[in-house]
Amino acid sequence: MTKTIVELKDANLTLGSAAARVHVLKNISLAIDAGESVGIVGPSGSGKSTLLMVLAGLERLDSGQITIRETELHALNEDRLADFRGRNIGIVFQSFHLIANMTALENVAVPLELANVTDAFAIARRELEAVGLGERMSHYPGQLSGGEQQRVAIARALAPSPALLIADEPTGNLDTETGRQIADLLFAKQAERGMTLLLVTHDPSLAARCSRQIKVRSGVIEGDSAERRREAALA
Ligand code: ADP
Ligand code: MG
Repeated sequence: MTKTIVELKDANLTLGSAAARVHVLKNISLAIDAGESVGIVGPSGSGKSTLLMVLAGLERLDSGQITIRETELHALNEDRLADFRGRNIGIVFQSFHLIANMTALENVAVPLELANVTDAFAIARRELEAVGLGERMSHYPGQLSGGEQQRVAIARALAPSPALLIADEPTGNLDTETGRQIADLLFAKQAERGMTLLLVTHDPSLAARCSRQIKVRSGVIEGDSAERRREAALA
């Protein structure tokens, strides 16, 4: 039995103020099953990052619903939403978003400590070893290569054992070979932990590695490989 982990219903979102207002997400509905890997593609400015931010609970909708693991995010206040995110969702960004004056170990452990996790440093060490950075724990981000920094960010995202891993252009700042290694790591972790993986990418070969591809254009879903499969099955 497949189980829906994320559901978006008639989602609308307008960003910016006054003359610069943009209707970014236009009545989007979408259901994602637990364990799927979804590659989201589309032209620059089409709303991919905004869609991911909504799916990560980092951006609230103007209208419509977002439900993750049977929790309707709209019903949560800011504190509960932050707590829900912390326990269920890991996020990785193109530009790593590490804290420059913290070591690799601190970057992974401190968010766990802030969430009152006991053994934060022990868990952080284990996660850094699991992404191949056992020898880099006391390095600062500025002393690490781009690929190593992204591994730290992945360890940080995985440390709370999220059900959902969300990545916005995770290989976008890396050379081809390093990008491939980072993609290998994301898919390996997804398989190992049975997570659901949602990623935005410009790279068609990365999107093709996902079990499902969604194409976004001008704030709407223009194509969805799962829809095509469903239609083919009904035909
Ligand atoms: P993508 O990730 O596909 O490149 P984004 O989701 O970042 O697209 O942006 C979609 C559209 O929304 C773009 O036209 C962008 O300029 C606009 N946009 C994004 N964030 C804001 C914001 N905070 N204020 C105003 N417009 C925004
Ligand atoms: Mg983007």
